[in-house]
Amino acid sequence: MTGIMNGKRGLIMGVANSHSIAWGIAQALAAQGAELAFTYQGEALGKRVKPLAAEVNSDILLPCDVEDIASVDAVIDALKEKWGKLDFIVHAIGFSDKNELKGLYANTSRENFSRTMLISCFSFTEIARRAAELMTDGGTMLTLTYGGSVRVMPNYNVMGVAKAALEASVRYLASDYGQRGIRVNAISAGPIRTLAGAGISDARAMLSWQQKNSPMRRTVTIEDVGNSALYLLSPLSSGVTGEIHYVDSGYNITSMPVLDTLNK
Ligand code: NAD
Repeated sequence: MTGIMNGKRGLIMGVANSHSIAWGIAQALAAQGAELAFTYQGEALGKRVKPLAAEVNSDILLPCDVEDIASVDAVIDALKEKWGKLDFIVHAIGFSDKNELKGLYANTSRENFSRTMLISCFSFTEIARRAAELMTDGGTMLTLTYGGSVRVMPNYNVMGVAKAALEASVRYLASDYGQRGIRVNAISAGPIRTLAGAGISDARAMLSWQQKNSPMRRTVTIEDVGNSALYLLSPLSSGVTGEIHYVDSGYNITSMPVLDTLNK
């Protein structure tokens, strides 16, 4: 299969380095002919994103910190001027104070709760509203979530609450925009070693648990997520919206640890 994204133009938000989930998605889209624009958060990350963007022949690289709404507006304005319209967006952005990604959820501070919700959840709604205005021929939107939204994962804490709200946002946005031919979905990825992933206390133990206890007995890669993202962002999923699609080696269907693990 080649060229399913030929002629499609989209914005990738959330590449920090070559380990980022957003980078796995960008590569899968570019391999199928998509034209991409990237945002980066701050100059230090910009230096890492620049060569990656060049690898997929993108020359649109824009600064954006979602806490600063003017920078979001500037991205949308730049894309409007450059492309006129937009076919898809990828929102792979999340943040919480790592001091609160350990211990009891109950200890989450008011300040970090609000900040986590703004960056990890509400930013998707703010970006979706602006991007939708450029999706004049319909379009697709994708965000990233984690199973800590529906089940308690140790240390995931306030991020789990923010991801639950993000998943609800996916359903409301899908309903808002369905009649305009804009589809909105999320991928719930299994744990992957990334910059954001490393902020969660005992991340290594989570990876090892997933590897031992998922039906496929392995963790997922950014390529696995990229492949499913290609499906959700392309016409291959033309009848799908408001979905939370698990890419987690099947971990979400399990209840107890697998027997071969228990017997060891
Ligand atoms: P990553 O660190 O590579 O990417 C996180 C991105 O969020 C970075 O590019 C960072 O710059 C961006 N970001 C944070 N605060 C921002 C702000 N204020 N403005 C703009 N950008 C900001 O890590 P990742 O694991 O690839 O994370 C991407 C998404 O995938 C996140 O939403 C994360 O919660 C989600 N996710 C990760 C895993 C995992 O195990 N790594 C699993 C499921 C879901």
